[in-house]
Amino acid sequence: MSQAEGWSGSGASGVVIVSNRLPFTIHRSARGLERAPSAGGLITALEPVLRKRGGTWVGWPGIELKRDEEIPSDGEQPYEIQALRLTDREITHYVHGFSNRTLWPLMHSLPARARFDRKDFDVYEQVNQRFANAIAMCSRAQDLVWIHDFHLMMAPSQVRLTMPDARLAFFLHIPFPPYDIFRLLPWDRELLRGMLDCNLIGFHVDGYAQNFLDCVERRLGSRVDRENMVVEHGDRVVQVGVFPIGIAYGDFERRARETASQPETQSERVVLGVDRLDYTKGIPERIRAFERLLELHPRHREKVVLLQLAVPSRSQVAEYRALKREIDELVGQVNGRFATATWSPIRYLYRSLSQDKLAAIYRDADIALVTPLRDGMNLVAKEYVASQVLDPGVLILSRLAGAAETMREALLVNPYNADETAEALNRAIDMEEPERRTRMEALRRREQRDDVEAWVHAFLSTAEESRAAINPLSVHDFEAWLGPYLTRPRLALFLDYDGTLTEICEHPAKALLSDAMRKVVEGCAARDDTDVAVISGRKLDNVAEMVGHPGLTYAGNHGLEIRGPDIEDFAHEDLTHYQARTAELVAALDVAEVHADGAWTEAKGPTLTYHYRGVPPDRWPALIKRAERIITAAGFQARPAHCALEARPPIGWDKGRAVLHVLRERYGPSWSQKVRVIYVGDDQTDEDAFRFLAGLAMTFRVGPADTLTAATRRLPNVSAVQALIEWLAQRDGWPLPSGPLGPACRGR
Ligand code: UDP
Repeated sequence: MSQAEGWSGSGASGVVIVSNRLPFTIHRSARGLERAPSAGGLITALEPVLRKRGGTWVGWPGIELKRDEEIPSDGEQPYEIQALRLTDREITHYVHGFSNRTLWPLMHSLPARARFDRKDFDVYEQVNQRFANAIAMCSRAQDLVWIHDFHLMMAPSQVRLTMPDARLAFFLHIPFPPYDIFRLLPWDRELLRGMLDCNLIGFHVDGYAQNFLDCVERRLGSRVDRENMVVEHGDRVVQVGVFPIGIAYGDFERRARETASQPETQSERVVLGVDRLDYTKGIPERIRAFERLLELHPRHREKVVLLQLAVPSRSQVAEYRALKREIDELVGQVNGRFATATWSPIRYLYRSLSQDKLAAIYRDADIALVTPLRDGMNLVAKEYVASQVLDPGVLILSRLAGAAETMREALLVNPYNADETAEALNRAIDMEEPERRTRMEALRRREQRDDVEAWVHAFLSTAEESRAAINPLSVHDFEAWLGPYLTRPRLALFLDYDGTLTEICEHPAKALLSDAMRKVVEGCAARDDTDVAVISGRKLDNVAEMVGHPGLTYAGNHGLEIRGPDIEDFAHEDLTHYQARTAELVAALDVAEVHADGAWTEAKGPTLTYHYRGVPPDRWPALIKRAERIITAAGFQARPAHCALEARPPIGWDKGRAVLHVLRERYGPSWSQKVRVIYVGDDQTDEDAFRFLAGLAMTFRVGPADTLTAATRRLPNVSAVQALIEWLAQRDGWPLPSGPLGPACRGR
């Protein structure tokens, strides 16, 4: 019994595997559509799990199907197949476009090859949505949904919308690049958020996981616990894990024992390269390194050949065709330069081989030269090792492949360094049997133990068992975030009210400030070096009354009216004009009967809020649409809020401008020399402030992570806001000495 079959997760839950491609391909022949199984260790390892636990494989069959064409059955499929049909347009933009021309090069740290096209991204998002719909259709609540790879990075969040409690796991089979590369993507935050709706996110090696955590922390402002590899994203906690994939070791070893030698490896010492023809694989660089070997060490001429197998790949893409031409020419040049009457240095095959032939060629090759410029893992290196059942060969491996993290007994090289690779080749050719055997045995033991079934087992067990949790926010978090920032004599703290200082309630009148929150706000306000302002969509008098502290600054109606110590009362000049018009708007909303079944309007002078929380959710879309139309027709802007629509005067004034007004009034035009600004808020109207204050303040978005935010950081809930304000109330005094060491020294 295989390990995957023997896996002892809870029997009741099925598994839904989701990948761009189904575990078989469909070909159109004279006999109609034909189905051929796809080779590959991953499929071999996952199918027993699906068979045992039951479930579905969701994916695309690999060709555009006509409307009336059905996928042929193979008669005995032991699990469900949910085949997604992609149109020609979707194949162009989602597969060849965003997946292959944008993400593939970028994720492999080759950004100059990446093309950024909005249309490609839009279709990628749409197709991910279609995958999410298919997942929702075939999953039961207790199933584990396991989504694979870079084609589907946005699918998790789209599944989460319809299945809020689903157990979602994601594995990335390619590298995750460093922050400085990933942030080149115009939609980097969308992809990160898409992945973060999973419970578990897996990578091959620690470096990729760390890169991901960097990006999440720096681009989304999410809190990251690196020690435990968890991310707090809004009100959710996500586990990140490292799972280096293995191969079907036993299959390769068996084939290597059983298959006869192939003609390609029957003479000379053979250096073997096996790759899909892809620019990440470093084939031209490898040929140059081999050429360099022949230059530096002429004694190997006529004794060694490079056998390069290039499997045709993505040949519809011009760049891949150009690469093929480049390799053809390079092979010709090197052969032309060194060939003799009886020997050519490079034997180049542009085709794929059967698994049996491949295992025999692996077995008989003296050296495997596996030198990708970047590779998520690289299975060829592992397959070579599994096939070394006779005289052990030598593995030369690129340091830039994920496999190099664990296969440390290989000779590791920088694939861009032709001299280093040539010297490694020279050393491998001369390596004595004892050293070869020692290195190869260690490599083989590890790959045998950590094969693909062990990988599936490790991932599924973690996905099933992990209940990610993160330490509560602590002084250390605030020190790390704010310590280096708080370097001016004063702090201006701006706080939204509903959803920030209090939980959102059914009715605004019920959203009372807790005693604990009141205490910390008052603690902050009592400091000589801190000015607290509460800025709300409520009417000014109302928010001032709810907070009830006379010494604070209050801004009502999203900043249209402001009152506070040391500043003149402010009322926006359009206030009176719009105050009159809200009465008309209330009447229009009444006539349209959008108030039925528990919806109501809250007129607040120049603005108005239409609350629909009390209406059954299935009626929301129709009501929102109608109310939006009426609000817009009345000359107001309709803005979404928590189960509400805000009607606001279109006068280019918002919470961000109100903050700037307070800062200039209180501290003068050069306020930024005197004061640091923190703004905390939880909804769309606070996003106005986050955008406006970018670079001018440290901003915090409170609550679930269901929207993109322009804030610097996220706080999960009202308790976290309280902890932050408490820390600000109790912090050590400043200013600190300014100058180069000042900010960096804080918090140590
Ligand atoms: N391969 C194949 N047919 C061939 C040569 C290679 O199916 O003629 C397989 C090889 O066995 C390996 C895979 O292609 O499993 C290459 O995997 P790797 O991780 O090295 O690179 P990828 O192509 O996934 O980027």
